[in-house]
Amino acid sequence: MPGRQWDPASKAKVVLEGLKGRSESAICKHHRIKPAEYRSWRKQFLANVARPMEPRNSARPPSGMPRRVWEESAKALHVAQELIEALPVPVFFKARDGKHLGANRAWEAYFGVNRDAFIGRTVRELFADTPEIAAKHQAADDDLWNNPGTRSYELEVPIADGTTRHTLNYKATFTDADGKIAGLIGAIIDITERKRAEQRQTIEHRVTRILSESDTAAEAMPGVLAAFCETLGWACGARWSLDNEAVGFRCEETWGGGDPALASFLAESAQTTFQPGQAGLIRRTLGRGEPVWIVDVAGEAGFLRGKRAARAGLRSAFAFPIRLGDDVLGALEFFHRETQAPDEWLLKTGVAIGLQIGHFMARTQAERELRYSEARFRSLTALSSDWYWEQDEELRLTFMSARFVERTGIDPAPFIGRKRWDQPAPNLTESDWARHRALLERHEPFFDFEIERVAPDGNSVWLSVSGEPVFEDRKFRGYRGVGTDITDRKRGQAVLRAAYDELARSNSELQQFAYVASHDLQEPLRMIGSYTQLLERRYVDKLDADAREFMGFIVDGATRMKQLIEDLLAYSRVGTRGKELQRVPAQAALDRALVNLRAAIESARAQVTHDALPDVSADDTQLTQLFQNLIGNAIKFKKPDDPIRVRVGVQDTGSEWRFSVSDNGIGIEPQYYERIFMMFQRLHTRDEYPGTGIGLAICKKVVDRHRGRIWVESAPGKGSTFHFTLPKNQRGQS
Ligand code: ADP
Repeated sequence: MPGRQWDPASKAKVVLEGLKGRSESAICKHHRIKPAEYRSWRKQFLANVARPMEPRNSARPPSGMPRRVWEESAKALHVAQELIEALPVPVFFKARDGKHLGANRAWEAYFGVNRDAFIGRTVRELFADTPEIAAKHQAADDDLWNNPGTRSYELEVPIADGTTRHTLNYKATFTDADGKIAGLIGAIIDITERKRAEQRQTIEHRVTRILSESDTAAEAMPGVLAAFCETLGWACGARWSLDNEAVGFRCEETWGGGDPALASFLAESAQTTFQPGQAGLIRRTLGRGEPVWIVDVAGEAGFLRGKRAARAGLRSAFAFPIRLGDDVLGALEFFHRETQAPDEWLLKTGVAIGLQIGHFMARTQAERELRYSEARFRSLTALSSDWYWEQDEELRLTFMSARFVERTGIDPAPFIGRKRWDQPAPNLTESDWARHRALLERHEPFFDFEIERVAPDGNSVWLSVSGEPVFEDRKFRGYRGVGTDITDRKRGQAVLRAAYDELARSNSELQQFAYVASHDLQEPLRMIGSYTQLLERRYVDKLDADAREFMGFIVDGATRMKQLIEDLLAYSRVGTRGKELQRVPAQAALDRALVNLRAAIESARAQVTHDALPDVSADDTQLTQLFQNLIGNAIKFKKPDDPIRVRVGVQDTGSEWRFSVSDNGIGIEPQYYERIFMMFQRLHTRDEYPGTGIGLAICKKVVDRHRGRIWVESAPGKGSTFHFTLPKNQRGQS
C-alpha cells in the first residue's frame, strides 16, 4: 500500500491529538506512522505555534532559515492557529520567560478575559489576588523548565462569573527549531462536574456511615458537619433545631475544625435562640424549608450574627433544611472564609443531605419511642402479678412469661406449641371450648376467660385469661394477652356463696318458724278467749269478786297475746309475703293508711297534713303499712294537752325520695334513736302507752326491703321526725 501523503493541516491534527492526551503509541498505530515521524511533526508544530507571538513585521525568514522552510511553516502555522482556535478546550502558550504569548477563544470564554489583557503577563501578575493559585502554576512551570516534557495537575480557579471551577491543567514544553526549550503550551480541562460528583459521593458516603453508626442526631452531627466542611473546603458549620417549647430556633451542635476564632463564634451561636421570622439565615431556611445563600455575611441586613461571623474571618454562608417530607426538622448552616457565589450544585447537594438526615432523625425518633415503649412494657410486666402470653396464627401458645410459673406453680412447657383446649380444664365443657375456639377463629378479643387447671400438687388453679388479636399489615398474626391467678378469689367466692346459702336457708327457716308459730298460736289463743268468755257468761253469778278479777286478767292477757301474734305475723310477712316492687302513687298508700287510722285520728282530734306525694317504686301494701305505723305512733305518743299535728313531707334528693313524718309529740331521747327500731324495744310501760314494740321493727324491715334507710330526729318534749328514703332506681330488686 503506497504511503499516505501528509499535508501540514493533517500533521497538525495528529499532533493535537497527542496534546489532548492520546498516547504516542496509540496515535502512531492509528495513523500508521513511525514514532520518529510523529515526534518530528510535533516538534515542528510546537516551534511554529510559538512563532505567531513574534513581531509580525518580519516579512522574511529568520536568519539561517531557508525561505522555503519559512514559508512552509508559516502555512502550517496558519492552519494550526485555525485549529487551535476551533478547539473547544481552553489552550494557552507561554514563553520560556514565563510571560504568556497567547490563548484561544475557548480560553477567553472560559475565564471571561480578553487575551490582550493576558499576553505578556506572568502567572503571578495574573493571579495577584490569589497568590496560592499563582504559586501552584509557578511550581508546575518551574518543574517543567527543569525537566521538560508534560505535566498535569488539578487546581481550583475562580472564573469570571465569580464561581470556582475545578480544572485539570495539562502542560507540555516545546522547543524551537534549534531544539531548545522555547516555552510551554497548556490546555485546561474543566473537571468540575466529575469533581463534584466525587465530592458529593464522598460526603454522602461519610454521612451515611456516620448516620448508620450513630444513635442520636447529637452524636452524628459533628461528624456530618466535618464531612461537609472538609470535603468542600468550608470553614465551619452548625445544626439548628426547632425548639417547640420556646417556639424558637436553637443551635444544637457545631464543628469548627479546632480553630479558636471559629470556636468562640460557634459558642456564641450555641447560646443564641431565635424567634421565628423572615430574615436571617436560619430563620429563612427554617421558615421556608428551602436553602438560603449569603454571599457576604457582613453586608446582609437581618442576619443577626453577620458582624460576629465577619469578625471571626467568615465571608459566605449557606444553610439548608433538614426535612422529612413536608416537615422541617431543623437546618444545617456552613460558613466559608472567602466570598462564594451562590452555587446551585452545592445547594442541591445540601438538600439531598438534609433529606438523608431527616430520615435518620425520623428513624432514631421511632427507635427511641420503640425503646421507651419496650422499657415501659418490660417494667409493667415485671411489676405486674399478671403474666403475658402470645399465640401464633395457628392459635398455638408460643410464649409465656416467667410470672406464670411463679404464680401458679405450673410448668408452662407442656402448653407451649399447643392450643389452649389441648389440655383439660375441669370447669369447661366441650361446648365451652368450642365457643372460645370459634371466637378466636373470628379474631375477636376476649376478656376474663376463666380456666381451671390442675397444679402438680393436685390442687385446682384458676386462671383468668384475656387476649387480643395481633395484625400486621392487616394480616392475622396470632394473639397476645395476659393472664391472672384468680384461685384465691374463686375460693373466697365459694366460701362466700356457701355462707350466703346457709344464711338464706336459716333465714327462711326462721321466717317460716315465726309464721307457723304465730299462726298456730292463734288457734289455742282463740280457744282460751272463747272459753274465758263462756265462763264469764255462764258462771258470772257463781264467781266471787276475786275470781272475776282473775278472769279479767286472763281476757286482758289473751287480748294482748292476740295483738302480739298479729304483729309478729305482720313482721314475718314483710319478708315472705311481699309483692314485687312497682311504680305506685305514694299518695294512694298514704290515703289508705289514713282511712285505716280514721278512728284513731278522729278520737284524738289529730290534724294530719301532707305534701303532694310522688309516684314511687314500691310494694304499695307495705308502703301503706309504713305510713300507718309512723302516723299511728305520732298520734299515740302525744303530749297530754297539746292538739296533735302530724305532717307528712317529701323531698327529691336526686337519686332517691326522702319522706318524713313529723309530730309535735313527746319526742325521744337521743340514746334511743337506734334501739327503737329493734323488736320489742319500747320506752314506756303499757299503762302509759299501749303497744307491742314491733311497729318500728316492721317499718325498718319494709324500708330495708326497698333498699332505703330509716332514722329518727327528735327533740325530747317537742316532737319527732321519722325519715325514710326510697331509691328511685330499683332495678334488680325483688
Ligand atoms: P310501740 O309503738 O308498739 O311501742 P314501736 O316499735 O312502734 O312500738 O315504737 C317503739 C318505741 O319507740 C315506742 O314504744 C316509743 O317509745 C318510741 N316511739 C315510736 N314512735 C314515737 C313517736 N312518734 N314519738 C315518741 N316516741 C316514739
